[in-house]
Amino acid sequence: MRPGAQTQSGFPAPHLRDPYAQAFYAYCAGGELRMQRCRDCGTWRHPPRVACAVCGSFVWEWSACAGTGTLYSWTVTVRPLLASLAAVVPYVPAIIELTERVRMASRLIDVPNERLRAGLPVRVAFVPVDGAVTVPVFRLGPD
Ligand SMILES: [Zn+2]
Repeated sequence: MRPGAQTQSGFPAPHLRDPYAQAFYAYCAGGELRMQRCRDCGTWRHPPRVACAVCGSFVWEWSACAGTGTLYSWTVTVRPLLASLAAVVPYVPAIIELTERVRMASRLIDVPNERLRAGLPVRVAFVPVDGAVTVPVFRLGPD
């Protein structure tokens, strides 16, 4: 599928044009949230990149995250920016602060709007956006 192409879920497929993105989404397809972790200073990072922003090291590994975190910021999207999203609004794009102290852009699922608040505990779930790509989303948790 062409990167950014529309999918059955309505959400665009992520771009998989670099090996970092390919590895990240391959772990997601296997039901794992993994991120880069510096082997010299232990700092987690996301999105993936070549070097550690803290110590400058190029030595890192894909480490398994706990899959838990808290809601840092969000919005409720009610107007579809793409025609393909007309059937899925409203939805909740969100910034999640993971237990590893890394923030990532994602989306909340199955959370009533009246429950939305900063610090809300969440846990990862994985949803397919097309036949080949699985993305991490978050729901209430941990449980
Ligand atoms: Zn480092």
